[in-house]
Order: sequence, then structure tokens, then C-alpha cells
Amino acid sequence: MISLDKLSKRFGDNVVLKDITTNFPEKETTVILGPSGSGKSTLLRSLNLLEKPESGIYKLDDLTIDFSKPISSKTTLDLRQRTEMVFQGFNLFPHLTVLKNIIEGPVHVLKTPKDQAIQEAKQLLASVGLAEKEDAYPAQLSGGQAQRVAIARSLAMHPEYILLDEPTSALDPELELEVLKVLLKIHNENQSMVIVTHNMAFAKQVANKILFIEHGDARYDGPTDGFFNSDDARIKSFIASMT
Ligand code: ADP
Ligand code: MG
Repeated sequence: MISLDKLSKRFGDNVVLKDITTNFPEKETTVILGPSGSGKSTLLRSLNLLEKPESGIYKLDDLTIDFSKPISSKTTLDLRQRTEMVFQGFNLFPHLTVLKNIIEGPVHVLKTPKDQAIQEAKQLLASVGLAEKEDAYPAQLSGGQAQRVAIARSLAMHPEYILLDEPTSALDPELELEVLKVLLKIHNENQSMVIVTHNMAFAKQVANKILFIEHGDARYDGPTDGFFNSDDARIKSFIASMT
């Protein structure tokens, strides 16, 4: 499992994460909620080392990172392979077909034999409902389809965790639904996930735990039910403002 101990991050004078101590349980989905600018993306990006906090301890099973010390490139690579950020679908390679987009990482990074990578990619495409799109190019896909390919591409790397930052924010409601269905399915297959979302109904449905951040503080860190039934005035007004 991923655990963080007193993670702190600032941009200049702006303290964005303040001593965040939490964990992201294995085989579960943690949803990060909070107002805009509260530090959600910075926290998520820190899990993939796209941001470097100034201090704090980050553990992923046997791997420990102390942010107050230099991080070796070997450790960075190791961690990046074990956590996979799903970027919006427009991050796909435009000159490669859907299938080739998915096998790129397994073949070149994991050194999976090509036949095997193709088999796996086809299974993944079927599981995100896009079996018939393997020969399409990204420009021929809808936003929702591209996002589902991006999810399949991440899963092809067999990461321990997949990280998603507002995975449906660029999509129309009906395309959003098809992406959320796929994420729910992956959740039900016990893939460890950390998701930042503004979709409260989805958070309620998919989250095993909620981490609510405000001004860089973890204001709530616990079970989903406890969050949605909280008596805390601030949490109640946040939920009301989002629904
Ligand atoms: P959220 O995802 O919750 O909206 P962010 O993590 O993106 O919040 O941002 C938290 C704060 O950090 C904001 O005040 C934002 O302006 C600031 N911030 C984020 N990224 C950078 C950056 N690269 N440089 C400077 N400030 C940043
Ligand atoms: Mg954000």
C-alpha cells in the first residue's frame, strides 16, 4: 500500500500541502475531494513524482522515499512503473493506432513479447468496450473513447496503482458515463486506484475511502459513508455546493 507521512509542498510562498499523513489502501479506490485550488492535483502528482514535495516520507510497499533527500533516477523509474497516471485521452500518440498505442509501453518498457502484448491489448480493449476500435487512430475517437483507450493503455503496464485526475472533466455527460462505468468495473476487479473527481455521485459509488483536502490540509480521511453522513458544517456545505 501507499502511505504518506507529513508530506509538505510549497510553490514559492504558497504552501500547497501541509503535513499530509494518509494512506491509499491496496485493491481499493481512494477518492480525493476538495475545492478548486486545495492541492488535490499536487498531491496526486506527488504520488507519481511529477511533483517533488520538500519533505515527507512516501512508502509503496518495500520502497521508501524521503523527499528531504535526493531521489535516485532508479527509484523514480521504479515508482513511475508501479504507479501510472492516466492522462486525458488527447495524450495518446496520434500517429499510432489504438492497438499500437496500448502495446507501446509493454513492448518497449516491460519487454513483453509482441504477440503476448497484442493479446493482452485486445483483452483490455474488449474490457473497456472498444474491441472494434483497435485499428482506429486517436483522431477518429470520441473524447470518451479516447479516455477509455488511455485507461486501457495504463492498465497494460500492470501498475500497482492507477492515478486519475478529474478523468471526465473534459467530457459531455453521456460520454462521462461510459468512462465512469469502465472505472467502476476496474474498481470491482480490485485495481488499486486514486481518483480526483468533482462527481459526488460517482465518488459515493466507487470510493472505499475519501480524502477531503482544503487549503492543503487533510480535513477528512476515512470511510466514504462517514464523509457523506458527516456532521461537520464545512464538509456538509462542500457536499451541498457540489450537488
Ligand atoms: P486542485 O487540483 O485542488 O485544484 P492544485 O494542486 O492544482 O489544486 O493547486 C494547488 C495550489 O498550488 C493552487 O494555489 C495552485 O495555484 C498552486 N500551483 C499548482 N501547481 C503550481 C505550479 N506548477 N506552480 C505554482 N503554483 C502551482
Ligand atoms: Mg486539480
